[in-house]
Amino acid sequence: MYDVATVRKDFPILSRQVHGKPLVYLDNAATSQKPQAVIDAWVDYYTRHNANVHRGVHTLSVEATEAYEAAREKIARFFNVPAPEQLLFTRNTTEAINLVAMAWASANVKAGDEIVVSEVEHHSNLVPWQRVCEVTGATLKLIKVKPDYTLDFSDLDRTLTARTKLVAITQQSNVLGTIVPVKPVMDAARRVGALVLVDGAQSAPHSKVDVQAMDCDFFAFSGHKMLAPMGIGGLYVKRGVLEAMEPFLRGGEMVLEVTYERATWADLPYKFEAGTPNVADAIALSAAVEYLSRLGMDEIRQHEVALTKHALERMREIEEITTFGPTDLSLRGGVISFYMADVHPHDIGTVLDREGIAIRTGHHCAMPLVRSRLNVPATARASFYLYNTEAEVDALIEALKKTQRYFGNAHARRA
Ligand code: PMP
Repeated sequence: MYDVATVRKDFPILSRQVHGKPLVYLDNAATSQKPQAVIDAWVDYYTRHNANVHRGVHTLSVEATEAYEAAREKIARFFNVPAPEQLLFTRNTTEAINLVAMAWASANVKAGDEIVVSEVEHHSNLVPWQRVCEVTGATLKLIKVKPDYTLDFSDLDRTLTARTKLVAITQQSNVLGTIVPVKPVMDAARRVGALVLVDGAQSAPHSKVDVQAMDCDFFAFSGHKMLAPMGIGGLYVKRGVLEAMEPFLRGGEMVLEVTYERATWADLPYKFEAGTPNVADAIALSAAVEYLSRLGMDEIRQHEVALTKHALERMREIEEITTFGPTDLSLRGGVISFYMADVHPHDIGTVLDREGIAIRTGHHCAMPLVRSRLNVPATARASFYLYNTEAEVDALIEALKKTQRYFGNAHARRA
């Protein structure tokens, strides 16, 4: 039985107040809060073990190296990565995708080739591909979003052609909450010999990810959205693809032999981890995946589905609110973007903050989707995680009613 009250006790920040009200943190799609176990792992590393890794013979360096590599193994197991060296540490999803754009695409994408993304992509999974196309002369193609906020896979076999080199697609939209079934994309990509990159920034924190079952070539994720500190994330790469890839960044740590003229590369994964790595945050990320595993990804997902269902039902009490995203709960995660007639999303965010409620407002780094598909300047977005409660959803609804009454009356007064 999932006991949210017990879970909440693990997150010290949840007991603080904002503007004299209990914090209601509903900005989880932007970043998650951290449990004490993660904070302790980080503090313990800096309190007892801190040293640079891999090169040292002294005790602290050996301890730091062992802890860093044990973290990689644990995180690899969490995503069912076949071997730890296929999990590269990066700063976040953005860096992981840029690594693929620089190290793989620059060597494999040529003029006349095609890269396919969808209309719901975060800028992180759009802008790097725009650049690859600009530099190589390849073409960027779009999988459309349908009026029901799911992706249109009806003509995948026309969108993907013999020229398609890569499909880069999110597994869950940070704006619509839409869960994207990756299998049809994988099947269509295999038929034309294209590789598939999955942006797991929003899926990894909220559902079981098995990269081997998914069969993708690249999987990118951010630690900070899944209970770990900011500054650590990762990239899984399929073995054959990884072995053929040239380095991303060059310098220390990633070399085997260096002369004044040239260098050879270290073994995997170090060839892709130039410079001193983020050891403490990798260790803290392994504590985060341990925490998530202990709670159970299926239980977390069920908890978020229940919260989302409750929130969508209660939002219907406010006539002026339009929500975006699939109505079928099995097709959406715990993210609700919405628009309130006559009230700018930033005003909603500001009023809610006075009530201690944190939501996000804006284009959510998906400007083309918000502006030219949802046709609004911005949305307000509430996003749930494993520590949120039904009472917090109710607090959100009451605060939204208050916002509507206030701005509705203000408009009435002006009219
Ligand atoms: N993709 C998606 C779907 C996201 O939601 C985000 C973060 N909002 C990113 C990529 C980028 O993640 P980061 O900023 O951690 O690199």
